[in-house]
Amino acid sequence: MNIINGFLSILFPTQCAGCKRYIKDFKYVYVCPACYEGLRLLPQRICPACAKPIQSEHADGCRECKERGNEFSYVLAAGVYEGALKEMIHYMKFNNKKSAAKVAAGLIMERVDHKIFTGADMIVPAPLSRGSAAERGYNQTYEVAKVLSAQTGIPLAQSVRKIRETLPQNKLDRKERLKNLKGAFEVKDDVSGKTVVVVDDVFTTGATINEIARTLKKASAKEVRGLVIARSI
Ligand SMILES: [Zn+2]
Ligand SMILES: [Zn+2]
Repeated sequence: MNIINGFLSILFPTQCAGCKRYIKDFKYVYVCPACYEGLRLLPQRICPACAKPIQSEHADGCRECKERGNEFSYVLAAGVYEGALKEMIHYMKFNNKKSAAKVAAGLIMERVDHKIFTGADMIVPAPLSRGSAAERGYNQTYEVAKVLSAQTGIPLAQSVRKIRETLPQNKLDRKERLKNLKGAFEVKDDVSGKTVVVVDDVFTTGATINEIARTLKKASAKEVRGLVIARSI
């Protein structure tokens, strides 16, 4: 670190996660207003189920969704998993920043269609395994879900539990991801006939939300919708 940066870091200890400038506007925790405004929305043309950008000729859905046969009805995301948003999620995960979870929830409320909350009975955060929760001290997805619940009035319920350790999904390909998660979750509340909004941080292949949805549906949930901070594209 050079002298100027060192000096700036004393005056403004927070560096913008997007542009790396030292900022003093803490409105977005550690994303400067310019980077926050620039967080990329998903394109207009996306798969109606998994929000993956698609070509017009496949407008009724993407190939992955057709092959997989989703257990969730659809998923919405506040933005694209890149740049400042990616940094924000990473930061939230590893730096125990509850205030970042508030910013993320605010971004969701600002950007996603609120139809996802219509008729919903409960907001359920995607669970961490006991190991990761203990290691990290908190579940960032739970923090986001808590804010969403407070703002929508839909009850928050930690109804899904992770019952075994799994490998980190980002090290696996699509097929391995599915296998890795199979039977990893358990429903601990009565969800029969309920419409559930499952909150997670990132949607990549959808394996996590799909497996959680499968578990909830097996426990007689009526519908499962996915709501994430970011969609990787
Ligand atoms: Zn910035
Ligand atoms: Zn799709």
